[in-house]
Amino acid sequence: MKSLALILCGLLLVGCGATAPTSSTPTTVQADRPAGEFFESEDYFVIVAKSGDTPQSLAAKFLGDANKDWMIEDFNGAASFTPGQSVAIPKRPWNLSGVTSTGYQLVPILTYHDLAPAAKGRMIMGAKGFEEQMRYLKANGYRVVTLKEYVEFVSLQRQLPKKSVLITFDDGYRSFLRYAYPVLKELGFSATLFVYTDYVAAGGNAFTWPELKKLSDEGFSIQSHSKSHGDMVRAQGEGAAEYDKRLEAELVQPKALFQKYLGYAPDIIAYPYGRQDDTVARRTKERGFTAAFTVRRQGSQSFVDPHRIHRIQIYPEMSMADFVKSLSVFSQETIK
Ligand SMILES: [Zn+2]
Repeated sequence: MKSLALILCGLLLVGCGATAPTSSTPTTVQADRPAGEFFESEDYFVIVAKSGDTPQSLAAKFLGDANKDWMIEDFNGAASFTPGQSVAIPKRPWNLSGVTSTGYQLVPILTYHDLAPAAKGRMIMGAKGFEEQMRYLKANGYRVVTLKEYVEFVSLQRQLPKKSVLITFDDGYRSFLRYAYPVLKELGFSATLFVYTDYVAAGGNAFTWPELKKLSDEGFSIQSHSKSHGDMVRAQGEGAAEYDKRLEAELVQPKALFQKYLGYAPDIIAYPYGRQDDTVARRTKERGFTAAFTVRRQGSQSFVDPHRIHRIQIYPEMSMADFVKSLSVFSQETIK
């Protein structure tokens, strides 16, 4: 069992440099594998793959959840196994921060606005282009995480799959239901909608509250995009008292409407136009928002400022190659 011994050595090395495992309860498994083909420590199982074993089947069996297949894939650096191959199955997260000796994990956070049958201008995405992008993510092993999972990653409470992506939609266009929702549902993807409350129920292409409630009940995240979509940074010549009142309204007024129609107050916000400064970020935090999103063309690392999380705007004119470039999930760093 030379390969098994090698893996065990590897695990010991990993154990030295990795984040301490969290205190989640270890899984207990009835080992049905012959002695010598199965090893269990406090943090890992090591098994010898049999014909038909997949990351999904092993995750279901050893971790009690087929959706934890990414843990096996990421740890072993492989999505399939040949019979006889040793496979390590981590019982717990082994790197909450995504930081390694060669760099750190990035989570691309994609931002969309309106959708229509055909692309129009800079902000209206064509339905077909959107669908192609989503299918690309699926076909290439990207894992769409929820807003909650992402925020837990930023507070070092959750390890995310290496190829994680977060999908967001701004403003509150009900075209989402027709052109994005069916594709997302089919692929099993979740998404976050940042809505500004002056627009909700405004008629035309605006979401209604019951539509948002239904999406929320289905597991989509609905969060704030301010009250009026005004620039939250103080304008030139704007009086201090006047600005203070305006900023307060943008942050606080949406809370009552969310509470009334969705049953909770928003605790995450996307700044209109991604615009913020120290004052805006500080007040946002003071008003109970645990995370806030800007717009900046790069992925976000676990140690990003939680009140200035980057998002990547996806424009209709972007080619597939441009889109793929936006999906970088690792920043290579030389640490001396
Ligand atoms: Zn917006």
